[in-house]
Amino acid sequence: MEEKISRLLAAVVHPESGLDIVRSGILERIAATPERIAVTLRFPKARDPFAVKIKNRTEELLREAYPEAAVVVTAMEGGTAPRPEPKTKTTTGGIAKVIAVASGKGGVGKSTVTANLAITLRNMGFRVGVLDADIYGPSQPKMFGVEGYLPDAVREEGEDRIVPAESMDVKLMSIGFFIKPTDALLWRGAMAVNALKQMIHQTQWGGLDFLLADLPPGTGDIHLSIIGELKIDAAVIVSTPQQVAVADVVRGVEMFRNENVAIPVAGIIENMAWFTPEELPDNRYYIFGRGGARRYAEEHGVELLGEIPIIQSIMEGADGGRPAAGIDPRVEEYYRDIAQKIVEKTVESC
Ligand code: ADP
Repeated sequence: MEEKISRLLAAVVHPESGLDIVRSGILERIAATPERIAVTLRFPKARDPFAVKIKNRTEELLREAYPEAAVVVTAMEGGTAPRPEPKTKTTTGGIAKVIAVASGKGGVGKSTVTANLAITLRNMGFRVGVLDADIYGPSQPKMFGVEGYLPDAVREEGEDRIVPAESMDVKLMSIGFFIKPTDALLWRGAMAVNALKQMIHQTQWGGLDFLLADLPPGTGDIHLSIIGELKIDAAVIVSTPQQVAVADVVRGVEMFRNENVAIPVAGIIENMAWFTPEELPDNRYYIFGRGGARRYAEEHGVELLGEIPIIQSIMEGADGGRPAAGIDPRVEEYYRDIAQKIVEKTVESC
């Protein structure tokens, strides 16, 4: 189906270069099922005057040819995002980079940040998966609107594989698919560790550029098991301004930096950094204090990857099963900056 679409889209020509979008490489990616066609166009030049026209023409052709399918064409600017090289021969073989998202305490927005980062990386053209390992409060199924998903098992190359959920082009495997919210306490300890191992090694991820692992808050045995099973390339710590200085965050950073673990800490994201009311868009209220994460980052030699304010759409997106970075351009902007830094640190530096 992808090939057929590619042939169809070869009819779209960039008026300036005279080349069609397939030959010129503007057509970056096609993901198609009979129900849904997602096409990514990437214009090497920023603010290409023909971008909108080409995007519209692409949509038109797809809708004509596939009237039954939902068609989504995403147009992006700037050079091709460098794709990280996939690791080979590990059980998570097709995954290039694994990023752990951690926090000192619960409730600081770790899961919300994970979901929004996933969507932002997807918007940048990467293939993304989320592993929700937060055994105390798995919230990714809700964030991606796939609560109630029951993972299927399939045989592949003589092995059992678990089929992840897929939402908004992001593959998702969550411990939440296997437990009822009321079970959570029972699942601590050995049971949870076994289930996580299976999720890590048996999920049918396919090829991914990034897997974001939403870790449980704090530091503990469960973290060490996950770190032992999953080759994490970098860790990102999420904190609110008032939590950043407390011992939990420090312990989190130390856990990754421990010489036996030695996982690079890509940086800290300060979430809920300030609040701006809709009616006073220039005002910033630093409800939880100001500048804490920046100070902490400087003191501990960790980069401050970015600050995200309290925004109503972020909360609504998390509750409504559609991460705000996919719908609210203001939110995407905050995340785009952070995601770019993470890409630079994990892909472009090696
Ligand atoms: P954690 O994973 O750290 O326990 P969550 O991601 O579940 O935290 O977030 C806790 C609550 O805060 C959720 O209701 C979420 O919607 C909300 N939230 C998180 N970040 C923001 C933000 N920047 N603006 C508004 N609400 C937010």
